[in-house]
Amino acid sequence: MSGTEEKVGRRRDEEEQDWEAAKAFFNNMKSKKPRPPKPSTAITIAVSSRTLFNMVEERKIYEDEGLEKYVAYNQQLEDQPLKHGAAFPFVKALMTVNSRLRELYPDSEELFDIVLMTNNHAQVGVRLINSINHYDLLIERFCMTGGKSPVGYLKAYMTNLYLSKDPEKVKEAIEQGIAAATLFTPGKKTELSESQLRVAFDGDAVLFSDESEIIVKQQGLDQFFEHEKANVNKPLAQGPLKCFLEALGKLQRKFYSKNERMNCPIRTFLVTARSAASSGARVLKTLRSWGLEIDEALFLAGAPKGPLLEKIKPHIFFDDQIFHIEGATETGTIAAHVPYGIGQKYHKGKLIEQPEKQK
Ligand SMILES: [Mg+2]
Repeated sequence: MSGTEEKVGRRRDEEEQDWEAAKAFFNNMKSKKPRPPKPSTAITIAVSSRTLFNMVEERKIYEDEGLEKYVAYNQQLEDQPLKHGAAFPFVKALMTVNSRLRELYPDSEELFDIVLMTNNHAQVGVRLINSINHYDLLIERFCMTGGKSPVGYLKAYMTNLYLSKDPEKVKEAIEQGIAAATLFTPGKKTELSESQLRVAFDGDAVLFSDESEIIVKQQGLDQFFEHEKANVNKPLAQGPLKCFLEALGKLQRKFYSKNERMNCPIRTFLVTARSAASSGARVLKTLRSWGLEIDEALFLAGAPKGPLLEKIKPHIFFDDQIFHIEGATETGTIAAHVPYGIGQKYHKGKLIEQPEKQK
């Protein structure tokens, strides 16, 4: 063995020892706080600061008096926790599911990971951190984008769902293939389950593409019923929220395989304006073709969704049509608008931008 080879060999041994020492050091660090899971195995939920916390007052100061006053205001109230925002109960419910998963699978990293995605100033970050600690939220990953679009970061974190108050950012995320929605605060407060995460989805243009919605809007209901009958065995294409339902299903199955089906802390609902007899079969067959279960499927045949959602009490309800979002929030449901598909051009069945009539 030459002198150089010997030296290289020795260096490698030292490196190995360094690695081992570093690993042992981290393994010995005792912490009561569970560590965040790896992004590749986690189900990552990115929430903005204005969805997690109620920052209406703060936002008003920012808009009326500018950034400097806004930062000063937040610094002054640094030790005063922010109030709950629309995503708060949802985030708490995600944490409940995580603690059940940790009991059943202590070594698994298939958990929800909550990332705070904010374009806030770093000085406001202290108030956010203080608020997160005040409420004992397990949020370790922060993305402070300094005003830039979060979409690049959402991809890097392999985000499964992004919730924001800013429809432009949500639109951009959806265009990039990320499940995303604009969150709305309900008009009244509803008591929500603390032991079960309850998620409700609209069907067309949310779980499914808007291919059938286009027919309803452009050709009317009779044509739509004909179309759905003719295509009953052809699965609908996937919509922007399908992947999130899939992620929920993956976690549900972890409970089922431990005989916890009846006691599963995740429950999913389909709340669609479709009618069961004339257009319901295609929806159920599509879900079946994807290998996805939904716990409860509710076909409303055009009836308003609000009163039913009031009974379901979901932590979040996704819909592509603003008038369903309005109906949901009026009855106390936390609703998330998915700005996708032909529905964006309509309000209550009427085109929003009518072409100007020629004089
Ligand atoms: Mg829809």
